[in-house]
Amino acid sequence: MNAELISVGSELLLGQIVNTNAAFLSQELAVLGVNVYYQTTVGDNDKRLTTTLEQAVSRSDLIILTGGLGPTKDDLTKETVAALVGKKLVHDEKSLHTIEAFFQKLNRPMSENNRKQALVIEGSQVLSNYYGMAPGMVVSTGNVKIVLLPGPPQEMKPMFTNELLPLLSNMLGEKTPITSRVLRFFGIGESQLETDLLDLIEAQTNPTIAPLANEGEVTLRLTVKHSDTSEQKRLLDETEKKITSRVGQYLYGYDDTSLMEQLFLHLQEKNCTIATAESFTGGKFSAMLTSISGASSVFQGGMVSYSTDVKENVLGVSNDVIKQHGVVSHYCAVEMAKCAKEQFSSDIAISFTGVAGPSEQEGKEPGTIFIGVVGLTPEPLHFDLRLAGSREAIRDRAIKYGCFYLLNE
Ligand code: ATP
Ligand code: MG
Repeated sequence: MNAELISVGSELLLGQIVNTNAAFLSQELAVLGVNVYYQTTVGDNDKRLTTTLEQAVSRSDLIILTGGLGPTKDDLTKETVAALVGKKLVHDEKSLHTIEAFFQKLNRPMSENNRKQALVIEGSQVLSNYYGMAPGMVVSTGNVKIVLLPGPPQEMKPMFTNELLPLLSNMLGEKTPITSRVLRFFGIGESQLETDLLDLIEAQTNPTIAPLANEGEVTLRLTVKHSDTSEQKRLLDETEKKITSRVGQYLYGYDDTSLMEQLFLHLQEKNCTIATAESFTGGKFSAMLTSISGASSVFQGGMVSYSTDVKENVLGVSNDVIKQHGVVSHYCAVEMAKCAKEQFSSDIAISFTGVAGPSEQEGKEPGTIFIGVVGLTPEPLHFDLRLAGSREAIRDRAIKYGCFYLLNE
């Protein structure tokens, strides 16, 4: 099966957003063994979209469009596809009901535009949107399938995985259902992980193992085919076991989770509260933790002690430590964590101090990072890191290491 992707949106052409949808879809289709031969980006313009679609229909079996399913005037994907395949737009009752319920809940009037979101192409297979309002759809013209997915990645990805993937396996003539499990690793590079698992990756056919590196993390997607769901699970478990016997110490979670989410669940399970003292991370660790609903059950509070003066006079780091070792030191990191634990009366505390860059500080290179942890073990802990990358990458990476240490100590 030959597929092609059409990303609709003028903001993509203007360079205002990056086309992550196409990257995601290409990766997913590659795992399924579907060849993606073309990716096209086209603006919100019905004539140019029609031309693009006509060409796509002439050369591909499967066309996946993303974007332009919303309620506004520039959203014209389904109108254009409907015209191309000679079908009308009709209201989808289920989608209309979802949209009405949404507005009722917010106690806001629903506009005609919003009703437009429940319009689908007549005769299409409707794909439910559990994270937004616009439904997706699958339309046939001759032997070609055209799939319409919403633009926002947080709506598009779950729709692809939960709604489209089962249909795709059917379309592929694949009677055997496919399912996948993503293993998430931190603290090991992609090449090391691949080296450690090379023989497994090469020999493994069901499930297949596909590595992917992203933002300092590595994931392995295991994709299994089997008609029986308990057998699918058994095959996945078996392969996972082989993998974890080699690199299990780096595995932190599954599927869409994050290190922070795992840390939150871990602290909650242990009934353990945490406080923070952050310097170069500027409160980002705390912000990420509090973005998880229910964070109040584990997070006591934190201090952004950015200047040396605040570290000493507000947080309470001793002048001796600062004088003797500087603020970019593991001594200061441990002191910061101790002060945070005391000031915020938490069970444990974590601190971040270091040089995010681009310029050096106290004669120390950007990327020199110290993380302090108290309360977890009888003696305070510190983790000394040398990280590379931009200022933002160093901050983000340090936060991930902080989570990872707290999860593993
Ligand atoms: P909405 O209902 O939000 O209008 P839509 O299906 O009409 O959704 P668009 O209007 O095309 O989709 O895009 C909405 C937003 O989705 C964009 O502003 C952008 O943030 C994101 N988006 C759209 N296409 C892509 C893409 N190819 N890659 C990444 N993000 C995208
Ligand atoms: Mg839109």
